[in-house]
Amino acid sequence: MSITLDRPETDLASNAITDWLRKFEAALTAGNSAAASALFVEDGFWRDLIAFTWNIATQEGSGEIAKMLDATLPGIQPHHWRLAEPAEAADGIISGWITFETAAGRGFGHLRLRDGLAWTLLTTLTELKGFEEKRGPTREPGAAHGVERDRKSWLERRQAEAAELGVTTQPYVLIVGGGQGGLGLGARLRRLGVPTIIADKHPRPGDQWRSRYKSLCLHDPVWYDHMPYLPFPDHWPVFSPKDKIGDWLEMYAKVMELNCWNSTTCDHAEWDEAAKEWVVQLTRDGKPVTLRPKQLVLATGMSAIPNLPKYPGAETFQGEQHHSSAHPGGDAYRGKKCVVIGSNNSAHDICADLWEHGAEVTMVQRSSTHIARSDTLMELALGGLYSEAAVAAGITTDKADLIFASIPFRIMHEFQIPVYAEMKRRDADLYERLEKAGFMLDFGDDGSGLFMKYLRRGSGYYIDVGASELIANGSVKLKSRVDVTEIRPHSVLLSDGTELPADLIVYATGYGSMNGWAAKLISQEVADKVGKCWGLGSATTKDPGPWEGELRNMWKPTNQEALWFHGGNLHQSRHYSRYLALQLKARMEGIETPVYGLAEVHHTS
Ligand SMILES: Cc1cc2nc3c(=O)[nH]c(=O)nc-3n(C[C@H](O)[C@H](O)[C@H](O)COP(=O)(O)OP(=O)(O)OC[C@H]3O[C@@H](n4cnc5c(N)ncnc54)[C@H](O)[C@@H]3O)c2cc1C
Repeated sequence: MSITLDRPETDLASNAITDWLRKFEAALTAGNSAAASALFVEDGFWRDLIAFTWNIATQEGSGEIAKMLDATLPGIQPHHWRLAEPAEAADGIISGWITFETAAGRGFGHLRLRDGLAWTLLTTLTELKGFEEKRGPTREPGAAHGVERDRKSWLERRQAEAAELGVTTQPYVLIVGGGQGGLGLGARLRRLGVPTIIADKHPRPGDQWRSRYKSLCLHDPVWYDHMPYLPFPDHWPVFSPKDKIGDWLEMYAKVMELNCWNSTTCDHAEWDEAAKEWVVQLTRDGKPVTLRPKQLVLATGMSAIPNLPKYPGAETFQGEQHHSSAHPGGDAYRGKKCVVIGSNNSAHDICADLWEHGAEVTMVQRSSTHIARSDTLMELALGGLYSEAAVAAGITTDKADLIFASIPFRIMHEFQIPVYAEMKRRDADLYERLEKAGFMLDFGDDGSGLFMKYLRRGSGYYIDVGASELIANGSVKLKSRVDVTEIRPHSVLLSDGTELPADLIVYATGYGSMNGWAAKLISQEVADKVGKCWGLGSATTKDPGPWEGELRNMWKPTNQEALWFHGGNLHQSRHYSRYLALQLKARMEGIETPVYGLAEVHHTS
């Protein structure tokens, strides 16, 4: 994305950023929003992760920037803007890392200048003054040297905490869902000293991965997948097998000293307006428990509420049928006729797994799918930020996350389109053979490929780790451009009249929006009040407008007081858990957190 220059040019770039920051600071200190916003190009962007807005919000254009500053400057009191390290320049853009302070905290950010004016500015809050995480020189001593009567050991203190929290004392935060999302957020809250319980219905942390189909390995490479604070060791495989991730998460929960309530189901939650707290009914080890946390986080999984289409006759089917999330793996299906409905990631993985186990497999493709070969994706799309080469070039995980975050969603597709044009060129042979087999391909409505599809609709793609070849060479049969019209006792009837004999039907038909969890656990009224989760409002397939600028409802305040949604892939959960944890900590400490630009609700599911 940028190159390091020889010293004199680096100095020029650094001077340009320093000069801009000086003018910016002068305008901000004078409370002159117009002068500050005039330092942006007309179509400039300011993405803020809770430092100014106590929200995750992007202001587009100098008009929106001025308006945001008018509202936030008096309370935020930004100052001390500095260049953090030598700036860089490439393709007419000067970019640099910056630091700044506000009344409440310290911030880190990224600035890109075009013709001396800001094109993109990212501001993030990294810590709250007076509530800094203990680390390095401020770490706990662990042992208290000297002598003390009735001294409690670390284990005794840990056990006492676990026995009291949720019994005689209330957690400030209840996280429902102890997958990687809930655990990573829990670890950050622990470091910030926020009493938290993480409730999960599974018996052990990591079980959500263990319970997925046997052949599953992460589709994203290891550099993208680290948990907060505790990166994988450097021998860790590039693509983690799912049970290995399960074990890592179990270890993580233990060593990060998280208060996990496993074998605990959250049954119902209700907001008590008078007490300003949630009343949450749970079943823990079979016994009812009521908790009264001040904040409720649903980390119940983005890929967790199965979309199960209702096909006529499904109840008459004599074989086995299940959603992809309930698929156990291919062992039991040797020689069986299996129909997999769907053509995205899970559908491909399950087809390949069934084929490997000697089943006769047919995929039913109802709409087009984007295919990205894993190797090509790693090299072209992720390699610059998340790879061994990126590590060698000094791009830490934090920096990679921030570089990613610094690209405003409005223009992100422009960076993606050339990547996928190159992918199309490079893997032309595979695409041609897939199309010959009848597979319906796409690269997203505007050619921007996988990541934009993920952000816009959370579906519609397969990261090819081998199954595409099975489709291309006919090992897995394909029926495309059809829908299912009926399920019969021993077959699936398609819209073109084909009848597919079936012993097993797998519905790899995706997942619903996370506000479905609010409907399940709280009420439909609250689910509608907060609206759909995820998606940018890009007016592309399955992502209806209007434009939102940010992902709906994720990691930021919602229209229901004290209700939060946390989730996403490992990269997103790692990065955004930082800002969600700080928002929760600030509220616990009574720091003013006026939210600027709380998003309107345009869609309820
Ligand atoms: C087949 C498949 C492959 C995937 N591959 C990748 C990948 O390669 N890389 C990647 O980053 N992501 C991948 N994902 C996405 C994956 O879902 C997430 O990264 C990850 O699992 C999300 O973690 P999470 O903690 O947000 O949710 P989950 O892991 O879904 O955890 C949610 C937890 O909430 C619990 N829960 C729900 N309701 C309740 C309740 N009422 N009471 C108590 N507990 C409850 C569940 O038991 C579950 O443990 C994949 C998903 C699937 C389905």
